[in-house]
Parts: sequence; structure tokens; C-alpha cells
Amino acid sequence: MNSYKILEEKIKACRKCHLRDTCLQVVPGEGNFEADIMFIGEGPGENEDKQGRPFVGAAGKFLEEMLSLIGKNREDVFIGNVLKCRPPGNRDPLPEEVKACWPWMMEQIKIIKPKLVVLLGRHAMERFLPGQKISKIHGQAMRREILEIGKQVFYVLYHPAAALYQGSLRETLKTDFKKIPKVIEAIEKNKENNLDNRENRERKDGRNRFEEKKKQEALF
Ligand code: SF4
Repeated sequence: MNSYKILEEKIKACRKCHLRDTCLQVVPGEGNFEADIMFIGEGPGENEDKQGRPFVGAAGKFLEEMLSLIGKNREDVFIGNVLKCRPPGNRDPLPEEVKACWPWMMEQIKIIKPKLVVLLGRHAMERFLPGQKISKIHGQAMRREILEIGKQVFYVLYHPAAALYQGSLRETLKTDFKKIPKVIEAIEKNKENNLDNRENRERKDGRNRFEEKKKQEALF
């Protein structure tokens, strides 16, 4: 069994908080565990709880429609949620529930190692980029260092469900979504430049790798 499957089995067996007492099943997420892009929402809703899959129903259909805009489908990416169990009645999760579930999210990112984590909606954004406003940072790539996973590039989008209720967000969301390939390109280019820089510098003055790595990251 590969390391992601082992993690998935552990998540499915989790009983670390009371949400497991009321949900029908754990929804760990699904897709390609070697994906370049991870889409992360807040938590499973009623349909997700019933089916054991993230982003099903109308919001999931809209997400699939947007994936097709960039030539991808669900199997090309990883789709998951910060919370793996549905809060009763879709209430907001309690801080202790988020805290209990957070290590699973960190383990998933550590294994999948995506180039880009796309945060779907305000709630998911607040978990990773606290203090930000979605109206200001949607459609922008941001790099943040998180203790457990190190530096990671994030990209914030409005939640597909919000765009379904608020027609005006629909086009904004599609426009932001279509920028994803360019963001990935920029991340790859930056990595290549950093590698070239490192090779040149190492050749030039033989600095140690650790010092050089610190510098590269600061260039992004
Ligand atoms: S919400 Fe997360 S921490 Fe709580 S039982 Fe489900 S998987 Fe475990």
C-alpha cells in the first residue's frame, strides 16, 4: 500500500473529535495523490456525507465545469476539505474540531506535495491565510510558510456554491480559475530559475546548500 493510501485508511478510522459521532462517514478527499494542484474546501456537506466524496452536488458540478476550462478533470487533481467529517446541520466547526482535524490536512499536503493549493471559499482561506479578505486576495497566488509543511503557494477562489447563489461571482470565479495554469507555470519557472541560480552560485563560491536554499525561497 502506498503512503497516501495508508494515510487515507488512518483518516477513515479517525475518532479524534465528536463530529464522527454524528456524521455518516469520514470524507478524506479524492483524486490524484501525486497531483500538482490540491483544491481544499471547508468541510463535507450533506451530499458529501452521504456519498463519502468531496464536492458532489451542484457545487461539485460547477467545480468540474471549471476544471474543464483548464483542460482537467477530477482525476487530474486532488480535492478535499479541511474538516473530514460533516458538522451536524452544516454548522460552523468548533475550534477544537478544526484543531483535531488539522494534522490530517498537513499529512495530506506533505505526501501529495502539490505545486499549488487552491483554497475554495472564505472559510478554507481563513485556516491557511488568517486575517486575509477573500474580496481582496481572490485570484492571487500567495506564498506562506506553515510550520508542518514549510513554504507553500496558495491561490484563493470564491467557493463554487457561493457563485451558484450569487450570479455576479460566477464570472469572477471562472476568470480566476482560468489563471491557474499561468500560476503553475510561474511556480515552475521560479523553481527552474532558482535551480539555475543555485548551480551558478555553487559553482562560483561553493556556498553550502542550506544557505542557498534559504535565499531561493526568499526570491519568490
Ligand atoms: S473531523 Fe477530523 S478529527 Fe474529527 S473525527 Fe473526523 S477525521 Fe477525525
